[in-house]
Amino acid sequence: MARYTGPVCRLCRRERMKLFLKGAKCDTMKCAIERHPYPPGIHGRGRIRESEYLFQLREKQKARRIYGVLEKQFRNLYAEAARDKGITGENLLRMLEQRLDNVVFRANFAASRNQARQFVRHGHVTVNGKRVTIPSYKLRKGDVVGLSTKAQAMIVVRHNLDTLDRTVPMWLEANNADHKVTVRDLPLRDQIDVPVREQLIVELYSK
Ligand code: SF4
Repeated sequence: MARYTGPVCRLCRRERMKLFLKGAKCDTMKCAIERHPYPPGIHGRGRIRESEYLFQLREKQKARRIYGVLEKQFRNLYAEAARDKGITGENLLRMLEQRLDNVVFRANFAASRNQARQFVRHGHVTVNGKRVTIPSYKLRKGDVVGLSTKAQAMIVVRHNLDTLDRTVPMWLEANNADHKVTVRDLPLRDQIDVPVREQLIVELYSK
């Protein structure tokens, strides 16, 4: 399994916006964007030559970083989105939302997608009653995601369920008492609240 292991806040600084990758810390003054609101590196505060390509690249990188997907996997997803019927950019975002780690995060079982990914990798998450350890597992309409008995007793999970107040999107139906979330329907574009202009990603990959 490949994943980014460098400094996470650096990714937000590069995109010049909060990507909320670290859970609770993101809402405090310890957030790196609050303290250093400019790109990392010695030239971070220098003049940036803006171009169409730069905007397209930044949108793609932002989407990858929000969902924690590496370049190759992202490109494969894009190819699949382009093959599907409908608008390619919307297909791409929908596929990213359908990832198992994203749904665990959306259901407030985890404070961040990184934490959700760890729960999945450690075998704490089930799909339709069976343990699944693949964070990129693609959920379908009607799938029920749950937590293992061990995970339900974990302090970190209980703390998340007690304290996280993110609104669960309409396309999911969360049942916190049973520690389960059902995929009611696949998400529409206006139900996906990530600050990404997907059209720019399509333009980038269509070159
Ligand atoms: Fe991004 Fe969160 Fe780090 Fe702030 S604390 S820079 S929002 S990951």
